[in-house]
Amino acid sequence: MEGVTIEDAISISCETPLIRKSEIVSLDDAIDRILAIDIYSKVNDPRFDNSSMDGWAVRLEDCQNVGSKLIIIGTNQTGNYKSNTVKSGEACRIMTGAPMPYGADAIVIVEDSVIDGNFVIINGPARREYVRKCGENISIGQKSLLAGTLLTSSKISLSATIGYSELEVICKPKIAIISNGDELIEPGQKLLDGQIYESNSFGLAALVKKIGCEPVRLGIVHDNMEGLRKSLNFASKNCDAILTSGGVSMGEWDLVRKIMQEEGEIKFWKIKMRPGGPPLFGKWKKIPLFGLPGNPVSSHVVFTMVVFPWVSNSLGYDENQGPRLADRVSVISKSHIKGAPGKVCLRRIQINNEKGVLHADIKTHQGSGNINSMVVHNGLSLLPPDKDAKPGEEIEALWLR
Ligand code: AMP
Ligand code: MG
Repeated sequence: MEGVTIEDAISISCETPLIRKSEIVSLDDAIDRILAIDIYSKVNDPRFDNSSMDGWAVRLEDCQNVGSKLIIIGTNQTGNYKSNTVKSGEACRIMTGAPMPYGADAIVIVEDSVIDGNFVIINGPARREYVRKCGENISIGQKSLLAGTLLTSSKISLSATIGYSELEVICKPKIAIISNGDELIEPGQKLLDGQIYESNSFGLAALVKKIGCEPVRLGIVHDNMEGLRKSLNFASKNCDAILTSGGVSMGEWDLVRKIMQEEGEIKFWKIKMRPGGPPLFGKWKKIPLFGLPGNPVSSHVVFTMVVFPWVSNSLGYDENQGPRLADRVSVISKSHIKGAPGKVCLRRIQINNEKGVLHADIKTHQGSGNINSMVVHNGLSLLPPDKDAKPGEEIEALWLR
């Protein structure tokens, strides 16, 4: 059988990686960017022992009995560090986040106290757990975020906590997207006989954005070599990689394959997967190029299975903390899922969590031209070559994000 395995497609393409560059951005601009370097904490978090409650800083030994009466010696507020000292029989008023006074080792919450002149009567437990200890979350110098991490809101908050106002992130590579086919017309235009709306470039652009790159949609190129050459040349001058869709099969009018054979450099053609069999990878004027199939499901699936791992590998995304398009899971098949001879079979499946066990079912027609099958389902089967799944059988799958 012709073609390479999915694993080989990834390793061959990774020999021609995207170039990785980095830039500095402020925290305000860091959401959804990818960290370029490991970062280390500049502070202890918490910076000092402090109270997690509004109440009284006390000595635990003084509060063994309900109704203990302690002398109020002062107040510890946030931001206003006064080094009060709590001695036996004393209590210091304390706010959430304020430093613990010397000598105190526990907190009584304000709700468990009554003030009586210069005294406070303690009617509830004193708790050591309400003291947040210096460095218990992160200690100074600790590696806190890994290179290749997708910066989420909590990671941005953590960056500020540990002293960073800006971060070194990976530059978004520009990925050109070219759609090829005589039948294609921009959505929203009046359809003439034989025309269909061009959809792949929009779906691919969304995928490109989702994985930390910048899509550059170059529109539709009809089935002529001249137009295709022009568009590829423009892309190679202005972008870091090229994705085409359509025109990579065996047909006379599959011009992406033809132009790449005649004027480009092909590293592989065809992958042993269904859908998504016909893609190619190579270089056009030194720029990496994936020729994706025209069928909308195929282009999505090949992007997920091969283009994403190539980007992730090129740019050093962290496997767990980096961007992801899917999670690998085991599911129990509810129906018979048909595999494919000699190819990994990625059927669209609906994954449902039923009392903690993941089940997978097939709901609609599976044609690779049916993008709606990617909408009504939320996953892909990962059936090995020549393997069907029987009802009740456990199989590997991808749960799409
Ligand atoms: P091709 O890979 O060019 O043989 O195209 C395979 C199928 O995908 C054909 O039915 C095309 O009409 C369809 N197709 C190709 N490109 C696109 C696109 N950009 N958007 C939607 N459908 C497409
Ligand atoms: Mg075509």
